[in-house]
Amino acid sequence: MSDETSFAGLFGRAPEIHTDAPGRVNLIGEHTDYSGGFVLPLAIPQRTRVELAKREEPRVRAWSANFGDSADRETPEVEEYRLGEEEPGHGWIDYVQGITEVLRHAGYTLGGFDLRVESDVPLGSGLSSSAALEVAVLRALREAYHLDLDDLRLALAGQKAENDFVGAPVGIMDQMASNLADETTALYLDTRSLHYEKVPLPAQAELLVINSGVSHRNATSEYRTRRRECEAAAELLSVPQLRDVGLQDLWRLGTLPEPLDRRARHVITENARVRSAVAALRERDLPRLGKLLDASHESLRNDYEVSIPEIDRLVELAKEEPGVFGARLTGGGFGGSIVVVTRRGAAREAGERIAKRYGEEIGKQATVMVPAYSPETILTRRTETGAQTPS
Ligand code: ADP
Ligand code: MG
Repeated sequence: MSDETSFAGLFGRAPEIHTDAPGRVNLIGEHTDYSGGFVLPLAIPQRTRVELAKREEPRVRAWSANFGDSADRETPEVEEYRLGEEEPGHGWIDYVQGITEVLRHAGYTLGGFDLRVESDVPLGSGLSSSAALEVAVLRALREAYHLDLDDLRLALAGQKAENDFVGAPVGIMDQMASNLADETTALYLDTRSLHYEKVPLPAQAELLVINSGVSHRNATSEYRTRRRECEAAAELLSVPQLRDVGLQDLWRLGTLPEPLDRRARHVITENARVRSAVAALRERDLPRLGKLLDASHESLRNDYEVSIPEIDRLVELAKEEPGVFGARLTGGGFGGSIVVVTRRGAAREAGERIAKRYGEEIGKQATVMVPAYSPETILTRRTETGAQTPS
């Protein structure tokens, strides 16, 4: 970190508050949250870190290391706006503006602040850098202004900022996961009631997460379409949300026009798969869990049509590896990452082989995000092998 882009370098004083929040990987339960369904995410080791200092005037200045590369500029790009004059359409700062607007409208009293953001959650890779940013900023503001925000209200404020201000019609999974999940227990969340339980990963299992290097940027309109299709399907089936249709009612989908029948089938079967996955985790039945991941991927690819060839290839390569129980697209799709369940001890090597074969075949760089490399491993690997390391 150069001095120029440290908090002091940017704002001429020390930060008062340091907070952070992790990205997340969803084990299973994809595109179910905006239909009131079930999800099963975990936190990933990568995090978004925020430094903040309050200001006297009601102005916000903010800088992000993920956007503010000042190498080719004379001064780092600091975004600025006045509290109460939030206005969308200004790029990443919209997430911060959305948060201050939502908090103000909810009656919280805020003052101005300086903010520095830095993240190793890859942006647009299905690992929810957006929620990590929202949760980290909300945590900093909660601390700075002593806001009476419990965990649920904090997550809901992040979602509202993203929905209403940024304009991304996301469900509640990401903010709940970033705020409440950890790396070894899955958060089994009912996205309608927001009731959740922690379900530990069995000791014999290990997670592997690989970023395809294909960003899902520009997928918002597809996401919006899927969301509308689910709402239309629910209306035709006379239920409030697709969450209210069970497997026993699958036959009713025959009355829906194409592609609403397939979209609904994905959501309904995916909700059932989440419940089965929770049972499989509790029974430590990894082959069963793996089959559920495989089936989830098929459903996302064929019925929900949110996969892409690169992701399909990563999933195929994963399934050829020894010690792999199952693999699927994770996150909203149209790029992003895969999640794989392996036998404990098998994930690292499998991940490296998959990334290598993918690079040779597809010519794009896949990155193993989980298991994460420790700083020592990165140093050793750089000097000894010159091998690819996560950025
Ligand atoms: P995902 O959440 O899957 O990573 P999104 O499209 O939902 O992808 O969110 C990515 C957007 O969130 C970025 O384009 C940027 O606007 C914002 N964002 C996320 N992390 C940061 C960060 N560290 N600094 C600045 N903006 C960020
Ligand atoms: Mg996001």
